[in-house]
Amino acid sequence: MDTGEICPICTMTDILDAGDGYECSVCGHEWMKADQDELVVTDANGKVLAAGDDITLVKDLKINGKSGKLKVGTKIRGIRLVDGDHPIEGKVEGRAMLIRSEFVKKA
Ligand SMILES: [Zn+2]
Repeated sequence: MDTGEICPICTMTDILDAGDGYECSVCGHEWMKADQDELVVTDANGKVLAAGDDITLVKDLKINGKSGKLKVGTKIRGIRLVDGDHPIEGKVEGRAMLIRSEFVKKA
């Protein structure tokens, strides 16, 4: 059954409706059903992030379309939150980047 949901971890759409929550049949991630009105973004430690927070990368990230990468420990100041599977927008060396929330922690 197509629930119209997208797994926040692996972004697959094979989602099982488990009553009061959803379960991803690809990676097994489970999450609660919630109103979609409020955007809640949590970091790798489960801390809620807010617009304007400073974050630190907990993983090396490839830069889309470039051979370079962002090293673990890179600090990004003054993030914005956006809807989607890469909910964190931050500027790195003058370029706007979208980053997945599980790859960062609050600085
Ligand atoms: Zn998944």
